[in-house]
Amino acid sequence: MSRSEELFRQAVELIPGGVNSPVRAYGNVHEIPRFIASADGPYISDVDGNTYVDFIGSWGPMILGNNDKRILNSVAEAAGKGLSFGAATEAEVEMAKLVCDLVPSIEMVRMVNSGTEAVMSAIRVARGFTGRNKIVKFMGCYHGHSDAMLVKAGSGVMTAGIPDSAGVPAGCTQDTLSAEYNNLDSVQELFDRYTEEIAAVIVEPVGANMGVVLPEKGFLEGLRAICDKYGSLLIFDEVITGFRLSIQGAQGYFGVQPDLTTFGKIIGAGMPVGAYGGRKEIMKLVSPVGKVYQAGTLSGNPVAMAAGLTQLKILRDTPDFYENLNANGDWFYTEMDQILTDHQIPHCLNHIGSLGCVFFTEETVRDYVSAKTSDTVVYAKYFKYLLNHGVYMAPSQFEAMFLSGAHTRERELKKTLEVIDACCSELK
Ligand code: PMP
Repeated sequence: MSRSEELFRQAVELIPGGVNSPVRAYGNVHEIPRFIASADGPYISDVDGNTYVDFIGSWGPMILGNNDKRILNSVAEAAGKGLSFGAATEAEVEMAKLVCDLVPSIEMVRMVNSGTEAVMSAIRVARGFTGRNKIVKFMGCYHGHSDAMLVKAGSGVMTAGIPDSAGVPAGCTQDTLSAEYNNLDSVQELFDRYTEEIAAVIVEPVGANMGVVLPEKGFLEGLRAICDKYGSLLIFDEVITGFRLSIQGAQGYFGVQPDLTTFGKIIGAGMPVGAYGGRKEIMKLVSPVGKVYQAGTLSGNPVAMAAGLTQLKILRDTPDFYENLNANGDWFYTEMDQILTDHQIPHCLNHIGSLGCVFFTEETVRDYVSAKTSDTVVYAKYFKYLLNHGVYMAPSQFEAMFLSGAHTRERELKKTLEVIDACCSELK
């Protein structure tokens, strides 16, 4: 028995499902989860000594590659001065200044500890600012596990929120409305019906939690226009896209400015961090100056701030970082698409810059319903083959894969394409 299997057997008795976050259980691909021992650059290694090319990168934050020495040094230095003070620090001011300087739509920002917290707080602020209760979200977009966001809403646009999890009272989701991604009419219908009740529209500017789904031309601009017309706030959940598509995130990439933005793990470079921010007139509502309460003992933690500051400064100061990363992404995903086409495997490969995902379907994937047409049995086979041949992809169809600045075309990406090529022969 492998050490991973041994640990998993112990873990399932001690931790629900053996894991501290569901996707890690590999339940969708019916495989024993690999327990990770370490990671370095574009590689990740498990407790049995297997090393894989890492296309998860802790689900986004390791954009420079794993175990970057510059970040580790700043963490060690900060840790040497104390792990947490529960008090204001200079690093928090520096972080706030950096985020406000880098992202034009943000004039004021608050640090929290996860993407979930960032979204939960941004929604509270949007409600406080507008004096309205309803929130529009999109089917297939994930915004963390706060009560109001746990809505499946698979049964049509006008469905009032039905909780997607036990333990969520219907009252918590009654103000959550669901629309279809890439369908402005579905949003307009909600505004026609709830004209002056909608506080905000929250969207992943690139869908990355139903696999990768790109916004079609005019979709984000259309959301901006609808929100302006009805006095609602537009929230971009940039937990995945922030500081990844560009130094200004998706909003810089697409040139559409939200009122509020949520960020997550990438700001902490692997330490637990989230953040939300926006225009001053909105953010001034947050406690202690404003009437919207939000707090956190570990928020702005000095070690996490040190890690994040180092990473963000490297991203800002490395010439052509995003051009190179996105060009590598374009090259890699185009090659991957071609290999699948050459093998006549029905698929839809969606990608943007370093983010990408293959769906095993004949349909063009542009929303939740089309994403669900993917053959998850084929995905599981694909995943297993790659894992057994040294390539670590998302253990679920409905997740993104992430390239980092440490992945090179000559080595890791080429090797991965060879494995995918061999895998295709097996899939047929
Ligand atoms: N929003 C988006 C877009 C996400 O992808 C995620 C998680 N990956 C979250 C929010 C929640 O973040 P966290 O897991 O840090 O709570």
